[in-house]
Amino acid sequence: MKTNYGPINPNCPHMLHGGDYNPDQWIRTPEIWDEDMRLMGLSGCNAMSVGIFAWAALEPAEGRYEFGWLDTIMDKLADAGGYAVLATPSGARPAWLSAAYPEVLRVRSDRGRNLHGGRHNHCLTSPVYREKVAAINRKLAERYTGHPALLLWHLSNEYGGQCHCDLCRAAFVQWLQGRYHDDLDALNHAWWTAFWSHTYTDFSQIEPPSPIGEGATHGLSLDWKRFLTDQTISFIRNEAAPLRELTPDVPITTNFMGLSTVLDYWKVARELDVISWDNYPRWHGPGSDADLAAGIAFVHDINRCHKDGKPFMLMESVPSATNWMAVAKRKRPGMHLLSSLQAVAHGSDTVQYFQWRKSRGGAEKFHGAVVDHVGHENTRVFRDVAAVGKVLAALDPVVGTSVRPEVAIVYDWENRWAIDGMAALGRELRKYPQTCTAHYRPFWQRGVPVDVIEELCDFSRYKLLITPMLYMLRPGVAERIKSFVAAGGTLVMTYWSGIVDENDLCHLGGWPGEGLRELLGIWDEEIDALYPADRNRIVMAEPNALGLRGQYDTRELCGLIHAEGAEVLATYGDDFYAGRPALTVNAVGEGEAYYIASRNSDAFLADFYGRLIATLGIAPILDADLPAGVTVQKRTDGTDEFLFLMNFTGDEQTVNLGDAALPDMLTGETLSGDTLLPPYGLKVLRRPAAPSTG
Ligand SMILES: [Zn+2]
Repeated sequence: MKTNYGPINPNCPHMLHGGDYNPDQWIRTPEIWDEDMRLMGLSGCNAMSVGIFAWAALEPAEGRYEFGWLDTIMDKLADAGGYAVLATPSGARPAWLSAAYPEVLRVRSDRGRNLHGGRHNHCLTSPVYREKVAAINRKLAERYTGHPALLLWHLSNEYGGQCHCDLCRAAFVQWLQGRYHDDLDALNHAWWTAFWSHTYTDFSQIEPPSPIGEGATHGLSLDWKRFLTDQTISFIRNEAAPLRELTPDVPITTNFMGLSTVLDYWKVARELDVISWDNYPRWHGPGSDADLAAGIAFVHDINRCHKDGKPFMLMESVPSATNWMAVAKRKRPGMHLLSSLQAVAHGSDTVQYFQWRKSRGGAEKFHGAVVDHVGHENTRVFRDVAAVGKVLAALDPVVGTSVRPEVAIVYDWENRWAIDGMAALGRELRKYPQTCTAHYRPFWQRGVPVDVIEELCDFSRYKLLITPMLYMLRPGVAERIKSFVAAGGTLVMTYWSGIVDENDLCHLGGWPGEGLRELLGIWDEEIDALYPADRNRIVMAEPNALGLRGQYDTRELCGLIHAEGAEVLATYGDDFYAGRPALTVNAVGEGEAYYIASRNSDAFLADFYGRLIATLGIAPILDADLPAGVTVQKRTDGTDEFLFLMNFTGDEQTVNLGDAALPDMLTGETLSGDTLLPPYGLKVLRRPAAPSTG
């Protein structure tokens, strides 16, 4: 299986290090540009994202382009041996454009039109806006095709948001006519519009969801979100067309925003050559850094899986403090290197920041940057960045490598939209992403790599498939889950799965639907929702096939299930359903299907998955007990493995590496046996790939 993808652009076979660079903010003081180049060299930065919001500087009046400043910057970058991640400027537009073409201004869901201002404040449908975007993108591509600094295209910035103008509404109706093959009856059935007498008798009656109109028809809300993703993809294709035509060898990306629900990133990812995302964790907050790190690891893994394991880019991160947070706390010593290398450990081939030089004014003038207002390199933050640059320079062999986990967790954007939109369980209890990361955490803690995939991915390559809260079954998914188990796979499904179809219509005949009831050998009759202070517990059957003993806390959600052929591994301890099944397993074909009926404690998940890892012969990266908050991740090219041993605690930790002598790629030392990790410390170790791994 493929684990070596090569560099993002063969022109630069190194890790990329850099950040959003906005030289147009310093156009009055071009001597600062020369200082920037000197400082980039000192910090080990080699890739700058240029021009993300530079439209006003590039086209100060309609049709009058001024590329002189950008020519200078591109040449300076090339002369310094650096590269540009060159942006298209559509994320914010010049005032002249809004004034000349008011249709480009976004209309809110209350149907009021915005004024000019802010950013991401445009209509994605407007033909004029698309025309203007394509025109400036063409100018950029014409001007910089073949330029030695041009490494990558960065489309716009953090696509998202919605517009409710007449153009968008018309496009939505047209999209619906396509989806439902002009059959209004099919739409009415899919949206169950007979409820509240919402039946449409003409497509022209349909409005996008609105607080002053329809907000509770779940099929409509889901289709609107699907439309917004498709309309954004259409906008992206318009942006990318001149770039693909004129610079076909330059890869294209755009920066995602983690688990943001604005777009179905699984679908948008298919439009891009390389994935990138912006990561702003709240380190050293009220929760533990280890919990936060596991959650971030989960998102990194999604970004690697967007392109089936292909390395991604950490496009934005902050070298010190994020200005817009409730508490803009500084990273503690060690955390900058650790959090930067965490991305690399999970498959990033870049570490990039927002931004390179702190703005003198504007909304983000206090946002952490590599170069502070003081203007020189003698700062703590600059030294932290330079340390990352030095480490990345030692990691050329890691570029392009990946990992092939034996475990997959499904995280699906459409499923999340459906769960977030439903009125059930209790608003505070839905917690779909939190549930997925809770099931991910035991693998992170044990140093077992995991893929995080969508419902539509290929399951057959995994030994263990985990589908937390798979509320919505998209077409064909249940069948593929059944085939996976029949062929010998192990499935773990939880409460609140198999409830609705892709239109949010409930399955009839007992949950989970579409034959999963038979697969799991259970019927989930109803689900109890508990208040925050309420507790129940599950009591393990003695003996049971997993070898788990005693009892575990459960809270918030308890499914009341019947075993219909499944073996009962645990029962509830309290309340009116004491003694009813809470954990089951059903043998089917060559495989097994587990059902976890309740939201159990982390201690349960740790023990349960620990037993599955052992019984399924899933190999941890290191044969060692990792202290709490310490993890190891790996990348491999099939010949060598690169191990990232990371300590996300503020205390020194010890890990036993066993007898093998492993070279530390950062210090040149050879390590074995007990190895010390300082607070927020890490090691990058190299070892030959085992024949069965990779
Ligand atoms: Zn619009």
